[in-house]
Amino acid sequence: MSNIPFSGARLWDSLMEMARIGATGKGGCNRQALTELDGQGRALLARWGAEIGLSLTTDRLGNMALLRPGRDASRKPVAIGSHLDTQPTGGRFDGILGVLAGLEVMRALHEAGAETEAPVVLINWTNEEGARFSPPMMGSGAAMGAFTEEQVLAMQDPEGIRFGDALSAIGWAGEADPASLRDLEAYFELHIEQGPVLEREGLGVGVVTHALAQQWFDVTVTGEESHAGGAMSHRRDALVAAAALVQSIEAIAQEAGGDGRGTVGRIAVEPSSRNVVPSRAVFSVDFRHGDEAALERMAGALRERAQMVATERGVGVEVAPFWAFPQTGFDPALAQRLRDAASGRGILFRDMPTGIGHDAVYVARQVPAVMLFTPCRGGISHNEAESITPAQAEAGMLVLADAVLATAGLAGA
Ligand SMILES: [Zn+2]
Repeated sequence: MSNIPFSGARLWDSLMEMARIGATGKGGCNRQALTELDGQGRALLARWGAEIGLSLTTDRLGNMALLRPGRDASRKPVAIGSHLDTQPTGGRFDGILGVLAGLEVMRALHEAGAETEAPVVLINWTNEEGARFSPPMMGSGAAMGAFTEEQVLAMQDPEGIRFGDALSAIGWAGEADPASLRDLEAYFELHIEQGPVLEREGLGVGVVTHALAQQWFDVTVTGEESHAGGAMSHRRDALVAAAALVQSIEAIAQEAGGDGRGTVGRIAVEPSSRNVVPSRAVFSVDFRHGDEAALERMAGALRERAQMVATERGVGVEVAPFWAFPQTGFDPALAQRLRDAASGRGILFRDMPTGIGHDAVYVARQVPAVMLFTPCRGGISHNEAESITPAQAEAGMLVLADAVLATAGLAGA
């Protein structure tokens, strides 16, 4: 624990000031990536950085890096990052807390006239949310090699506007190579949990040890259309068969144990007529687990169950893989630094996985990375009602700050 004057009040004031850009009627925020408002949010961060002497580098995808030099020029920067963009009906803290907590670390170092051994850099990733331009986490994904720069620049929003054109239009297309952001000693990301665990358990922070592996599927059930007035016998009802499968998705996730999750978020029925027995039902499956082998077993159980339902009900069932994402482990040494920092401040914590994608998950492919969660009210996020308290924000910022300083090294300490 250092004597650097980190200020929870200053952090909160900055969160509230940033929240004015794109403020919504219900107390949330609509500051979608590459809109005029995103440009304004970026300009505010740049101004705050300039006030304390941070040097700003923007890359060709708009990722912003605000650097504070260290005493040892041979060391790579220790990074703190997250995102300023929001969902259309987003909250004031998802992503923003991580960026502005990093800014507070920089401000307090500046105020104390303190020097770190390694440089410290604050990163605002472009388009984490993927609301206007899909998929999410584009800026960090491209920087870490998950997409090419050309792919990202060519992405289009629903109106056919290219990512590259939208970025230029708001004046945030820089010249740096996004891949240069791989050149980091360590990466820390503070984020609201977007789940109920920490609040329910009365904890101050969560040390995120890994991101769950994911497998997504499209399941198509094919039966036979017939009149709703026809007898119940001999029906081949695609929706009733699908319903049985939807129930087993929940059961498969529960039986998988650990951090297994199973969700059916979308279903479409044909012909979707009130008095016709459905001939076709297509639904999505989203399986997640912290253990790849357990996730494989969940996928296997789905295929087995699909086979059974097909036989029992005389329907066709096709299970098609849609997308997959591997399990990502965060850096154990950095996670330990977060635990030590929390203990040092007397802040209660637990280890936990993230079931949700974050920039840190892509960064972890190239750089030792870790995440820290703070509680949020009711676990609600991607919602204008998203809410945290100033004390929760401060606790997360302090743990982040101490772990970052323990990594970068405080000169003379
Ligand atoms: Zn976020």
